[in-house]
Amino acid sequence: MHKTKRMLIIALPTVVWACAAVADGAGEDRKQLHHLPAAETSRFEVTDRVWPEQPGDAHVCLWKDDKLCALSITIDDNCAPDHQWWIEQGKKYGWHFTWFMITGRAGTGAYWGTWDEWREMRRLGHDVQSHTVTHLHFKDEGRAEDEIKDIDAEYAISVRHIEENLNDHRCVVLAYPGGKNSQLNDRDVAAKYFIGARGTVGHINRADQIDYLNTSSVGGINIGGAPWSEFNNLLDPALYRGRGYRGWYCTHFHGVKEDRRQELGEKLEYIKQREDQVWVGLFREVVMYGQQRDTARLKTLDSKSQEIRFNLSDDMDDTLFDFPLTVKVRLPDNWKTVRATQAGTPVEVSQLEHDGSPFALVQAVPDKGEVVLIDGRQ
Ligand SMILES: [Zn+2]
Repeated sequence: MHKTKRMLIIALPTVVWACAAVADGAGEDRKQLHHLPAAETSRFEVTDRVWPEQPGDAHVCLWKDDKLCALSITIDDNCAPDHQWWIEQGKKYGWHFTWFMITGRAGTGAYWGTWDEWREMRRLGHDVQSHTVTHLHFKDEGRAEDEIKDIDAEYAISVRHIEENLNDHRCVVLAYPGGKNSQLNDRDVAAKYFIGARGTVGHINRADQIDYLNTSSVGGINIGGAPWSEFNNLLDPALYRGRGYRGWYCTHFHGVKEDRRQELGEKLEYIKQREDQVWVGLFREVVMYGQQRDTARLKTLDSKSQEIRFNLSDDMDDTLFDFPLTVKVRLPDNWKTVRATQAGTPVEVSQLEHDGSPFALVQAVPDKGEVVLIDGRQ
């Protein structure tokens, strides 16, 4: 199914997809975007956590699980000698990382990893996405690979390599390669194949202005260093004029030499201790969540004493964007527990109290049917 769709994306001009729409149940055309245009200005006001006032009121949380901010850890250029170390860190902290791999190098030497190793990485829950086929070396003398004629092929064939070699896996995001040929990168071409792409400007992504096709990313994790990319900006509005507050910290690594591992481990530990505030998500997940959230519409249908119903929709392509958004719902005061369904199927929901009032955090996918919350005692 997905393969068919991918073929269509390749065959048609992007604009066709950018304007595609489907009719929803109410006869209203819904957009099916593959990515949002760069934000000229703020898309919304960044505030502290929101607490809806009246029972039945609902709000789409800025980040998953109503965390204050988001963090994605990405690793470029295959770095197979580091795989075991990163796998250990993933197990230790309960996190998953995004590997942006150079697909044409797989199986060509110890540094690049074999497809078996990349399949194992996926099996462990880590993500494997595109860092192109040749790292933009397709024009270099003696490095040409017959298939790769231009940047379009460089991007498109990397998707094919990943999807053919990793079972049931979608390649939907890219990290633009840096280095000597980086001028060959092309945002418009990337837009044909990817829902998000990682750039390398070393800033924190402001939550309200993420440029999904050229995100910022900090090299390594900065704790106590340069003010513009300091990790704590995410958590404290008083730092760096609040510009990083509640933002998305995307970080990228290359090889991590053994003598740097302890220092990096201490930084991971520092973040772990603050994980109640930080959503550690895959690059792909944050790119989905962000674009779904930025275009989300939440419509409360009904709220009675025993039942709350709402519809959640967005402007993103439903075949590509299927990550649950966290919706915070103010519950009636007398609800002690809560259960939730979407289109009749149970979905994850948790309950919390704030200033003496009960709230639910429910995980719902936009455009996947009506969400119903009921008093769990029923
Ligand atoms: Zn690279």
